Amino acid sequence: PEYSKDDIRQMAKDENVKFLRLMFTDLFGTIKNVEVPISQLGKLLDNKLMFDGSSIDGFVRIEESDMYLYPDLSTWMIFPWSTERGKIARVICEVYTTEGKPFTGDPRNNLIRVLDDMRKAGFTDFNIGPEPEFFLFKMDENGKPTTELNDKGSYFDMAPMDLGENCRREIVLTLEEMGFDVEAAHHEVAPGQHEIDFKYADALTAADNIQTFKLVVKTIARKYGLYATFMPKPLAGINGSGMHLNMSLFHDQGNAFYDKDGEMELSEDAYHFLGGLLKHARSFTAICNPIVNSYKRLVPGYEAPVYVAWSGSNRSPLIRVPNSRGLSTRLEVRSVDPAANPYLAIAAVLEAGLDGLRNKLAPREAIDRNIYRMDAEERQENHITNLPDTLHNALKDLAADDVMRNAMGDHLYQSFIEAKNLEYNSYRTQVSEWERDQYLELY
Ligand code: ADP
Ligand code: GLU
Ligand code: MG
Ligand code: MG
Repeated sequence: PEYSKDDIRQMAKDENVKFLRLMFTDLFGTIKNVEVPISQLGKLLDNKLMFDGSSIDGFVRIEESDMYLYPDLSTWMIFPWSTERGKIARVICEVYTTEGKPFTGDPRNNLIRVLDDMRKAGFTDFNIGPEPEFFLFKMDENGKPTTELNDKGSYFDMAPMDLGENCRREIVLTLEEMGFDVEAAHHEVAPGQHEIDFKYADALTAADNIQTFKLVVKTIARKYGLYATFMPKPLAGINGSGMHLNMSLFHDQGNAFYDKDGEMELSEDAYHFLGGLLKHARSFTAICNPIVNSYKRLVPGYEAPVYVAWSGSNRSPLIRVPNSRGLSTRLEVRSVDPAANPYLAIAAVLEAGLDGLRNKLAPREAIDRNIYRMDAEERQENHITNLPDTLHNALKDLAADDVMRNAMGDHLYQSFIEAKNLEYNSYRTQVSEWERDQYLELY
């Protein structure tokens, strides 16, 4: 909602708000909080609230550490859980430099920039409907997650199989109190795994929503003695957690992907956008699947994509065109996982699609057969390539793609690649339990 400064002052007073939680997101997608007492509200509303950016991952060097938080008033929200001392409100902020410019290392600012480019290209909105999946693990007496799942349920199971049901229901109710339009909530395929889908929104709101969603899921799970994790593949041998992104581009006349006379009722724009997504799929993988563990999910056999292809009918490829037409004509990118920084992931897929539109890229033919049943030769005949199989390989593709550089801007692009290479190297130099099990006695 659009709030004025006066609206905010009034709401804070009426609801007895005592603390302000100022939120923004770092390079790795972690939500950062600065909590200030309500006495600071005036300063915040005047864009005068300063913080030290030098200790935030991917932000700045010591010599330029002073940063400002400019509140996005439309994101004002009072948390439904209150403390004894009064309520807490949160506002999502944009990070600004001391010269009053949007700081280019702020992933949210970057998405705003890419959305501006989209408007210049003649579109009004990029709509995103995310499908985040997560696991509920039991917690030990120290509040640490164990590897014990909270149930043995499976897809669409109900109680008593699904012990997470009460927890999930409270998550849904809390989200609704916070203004989310929850469309579906269900047990997922793996034991202890759940999915909650909320209604699509414009890209910026959707990214904000994903961040808020994670916070709510983790907070409520704790109340039930459970630990909610968005780690993409917490356990080998069962499904991992994805965060499929449904997307559509709108212009003044409505959904730009829909054309009732087009092939499959899809417009030229839809095919070009799809062409761009396919072209840049390998290079946006590092952004959409940003951690070492992401690549343990992108393997055959667990409903996660492995190959770069699209289809209107089956769920094995990277991109699916769900059956709905008209306003809900959309593309579903299935590789994205919930470890992705939503601001960066959305900017990346949008920029890939815009590149397809600019260069009128055409997608190859749809693959309507199960790709997992094809052998390497058949895949080659059909021009089906693989997604990168490790973070290392994904980073190589990212580093070679100027469209993705533009999707992130130089600052984020460079700090991301640098930080992620360090992360991969730290993993690569470890010696794992698996290696000792396999080799210690054999050699
Ligand atoms: P699936 O069939 O993959 O399980 P779901 O029905 O669970 O898909 O999720 C559909 C998602 O797509 C919801 O978040 C919904 O709001 C979103 N969605 C619907 N129409 C659009 C659209 N035009 N643009 C983007 N997302 C959309
Ligand atoms: N959990 C699967 C994944 O890793 C997706 C299951 C589904 O289609 O909802 O992407
Ligand atoms: Mg799912
Ligand atoms: Mg889906």
